[in-house]
Amino acid sequence: MSRIGVFVCHCGENISRTVSAEEVAEFASQVPGTVFAADYPYLCSAPGQKILTEAIKENDLTGVVVAACSPQLHEPTFRTAAAQAGLNPYLCEIANIREQCSWVHREKGAATAKACQIVAGTVERVKLARPLEPLEVPVTDRALVIGGGIAGIRSALDIANSGHEVVLVEREPSLGGNMARLSETFPTLDCSQCILTPLMVEVARHPNIEVLTYSEVEEVSGYVGNFTAQIRRKPRFVRADDCTGCGDCAEACPETTPNEFDVGLRTRKAIYIPFPQAVPSVYTLDADRCLNANLESPTGFRVLGCVRCEEVCEPKVIDFDMTAETVERQVGAIIVATGYDLMLEEQATELGYRQHPDVLDGLEFERLLSASGPTDGMVRRPSDGKVPKDVVFIQCVGSRNPEHGVSYCSRICCMYTAKHALLLKHKVPDSRAYVFFMDVRAAGKGYEEFVQRAISEEHVMYIRGRVSQVFEENGSLRVLGVDTLSGRTVQIDADMVVLAAAAKPAVDNDLAAKLRLPVDSHGFFQEVHPKLRPVETVTPGIFIAGTAQAPRDIPDTVAQASAAASKGTELLSSSVLLRDPTSATVNEGACAGCLECQLVCPYQAIEAVDILNTEGEPMRVVARVNSAVCEGCGICTVTCRGSNIDLAGCSEEEIFAQLGALGRLPSKLQAEGME
Ligand SMILES: Cc1cc2nc3c(=O)[nH]c(=O)nc-3n(C[C@H](O)[C@H](O)[C@H](O)COP(=O)(O)OP(=O)(O)OC[C@H]3O[C@@H](n4cnc5c(N)ncnc54)[C@H](O)[C@@H]3O)c2cc1C
Repeated sequence: MSRIGVFVCHCGENISRTVSAEEVAEFASQVPGTVFAADYPYLCSAPGQKILTEAIKENDLTGVVVAACSPQLHEPTFRTAAAQAGLNPYLCEIANIREQCSWVHREKGAATAKACQIVAGTVERVKLARPLEPLEVPVTDRALVIGGGIAGIRSALDIANSGHEVVLVEREPSLGGNMARLSETFPTLDCSQCILTPLMVEVARHPNIEVLTYSEVEEVSGYVGNFTAQIRRKPRFVRADDCTGCGDCAEACPETTPNEFDVGLRTRKAIYIPFPQAVPSVYTLDADRCLNANLESPTGFRVLGCVRCEEVCEPKVIDFDMTAETVERQVGAIIVATGYDLMLEEQATELGYRQHPDVLDGLEFERLLSASGPTDGMVRRPSDGKVPKDVVFIQCVGSRNPEHGVSYCSRICCMYTAKHALLLKHKVPDSRAYVFFMDVRAAGKGYEEFVQRAISEEHVMYIRGRVSQVFEENGSLRVLGVDTLSGRTVQIDADMVVLAAAAKPAVDNDLAAKLRLPVDSHGFFQEVHPKLRPVETVTPGIFIAGTAQAPRDIPDTVAQASAAASKGTELLSSSVLLRDPTSATVNEGACAGCLECQLVCPYQAIEAVDILNTEGEPMRVVARVNSAVCEGCGICTVTCRGSNIDLAGCSEEEIFAQLGALGRLPSKLQAEGME
């Protein structure tokens, strides 16, 4: 015999503005099986939860319905409260009368009628609910961090310092990411390399961290606490353990190519180290540039056209026979920190990018400012090596421009443009810096003061407006724009133009697909909840850090990386994980083995299993659900044509009972014609 309690929350005015919580509670008390019904302004508050726990005990309730906000928010709160009162937590269900009712309706009578129906349905469902026990899943005490920029470095160090093992995978030959390219960093102007390289070295030396550079994650299978990652280690053609980093090989190498680290502003050899402070400090032979053909193919025909590096290498570490290898690592948690790239498409092209060598993007200008850059920190024009005197900085190139770029603000450009203008004035005191801006967004500690310093101390000229065109005229770059404050057109003959291009996700083929993670409409990894779960993803056990989630500066990246690390550490800290038991089960006796369910399962939780006869021979194939992987989404249950899959906590019986009750309405509302 069911004894159900119904608790209706006002959620301040969120629900009560359009739904009469009192009428819903009054109606609920009439639903057969309900022995207790009450309404309360904030059920999630401590006194609200006390009402629930006391009512469970005093009325000997066998099930509870909380009519409130989305289960995403407070289901755990109320289930925990129910468990404290001795009720199996899975006998407590949420009737969502906020997101699915009060927030989407205006007319109070109709909204109240709908809330009553939602509650009646949930009561019927709870009457049939069965007690469930959480599943116990073992946890592998190791994290995988993908991306070795500042976000990945910070996350790896935090997890490793908490005593857990970490595998850090970076696709480039060195750790560091984009921060390693920067000259000095706003707002404090500390040298980027000086604050980054100690961390890179710490990672490389950390006893708990395995660093796999020049590597990429090929495949990830498994589930929270138990992932298996296949990692492809690209061949360096140099035995890294024995390379002394002396550089004799690069000196002997005859082949040059643009250096990616210097964004093409300087060349490197086919065998190279990306930058002097690289970690690991070993050489890498670029198979695409080496004069020896077919370097990666183990069986293919190879022409050893040049062996100069091998000849001069004293420790004899050059190995032209090296091939890619795939290593496997078991991990319990994954942090994705794959960073950003700059978007230099349509709008940048209109502004002369790639048409003229002296139109640069922000990272190229960083390399010109950097002491380790191609001009040793002296700002020089790439075209003729002259010191530029008039430099125009253009903000929001591609940002906040859905027609010719992206709709979002890239968040870092206002600040790094102010930094660029300020550093230009430091390096070339008699230069003139002009900044075209839409508005200056300098929301951060010391940020507004930093921009003001550029304007008032260094006399950087800020012009509010857009630039329509940049073209070459009489040896200079003519910048045509409009000053929207005065309403006048502006023409500046510049020696150099620097574009603050929009930040976009790092180009990465299909990592999101490999990890089964959604991305947002711009391609950044999608968090579960922007406010309450900003570093978690829909796949339990996988977290996101840094600019892989959205553009942000170093302080915010580091803070978010530590947040992701703390989530990962929390997961790795227990040897066993309790998982929600809401998972699917196949009735194997009735399963026809069509495996349609396997095709639709987004979590790859379903496998085909042979049923053996008494002689141990395969008789037929059936589908079986790995309950540790199953997320309880229910897609398989509705796909199964034979209705042979049951979802714990959401059985067909429960759903039909819930639907059957939807027609019920309080008599008062019936009289008002609300059916
Ligand atoms: C011009 C410019 C100037 C800036 N100046 C400042 C400043 O002064 N102060 C400040 O606070 N911020 C500044 N920033 C912002 C700063 O660069 C970022 O906040 C920071 O670099 C973000 O770090 P990240 O680790 O998230 O990403 P990234 O630095 O992009 O690192 C990501 C790493 O992941 C690796 N990776 C990508 N895909 C894969 C994959 N599939 N597998 C393995 N590895 C992968 C990449 O190779 C890279 O090493 C500036 C940005 C720009 C564009």
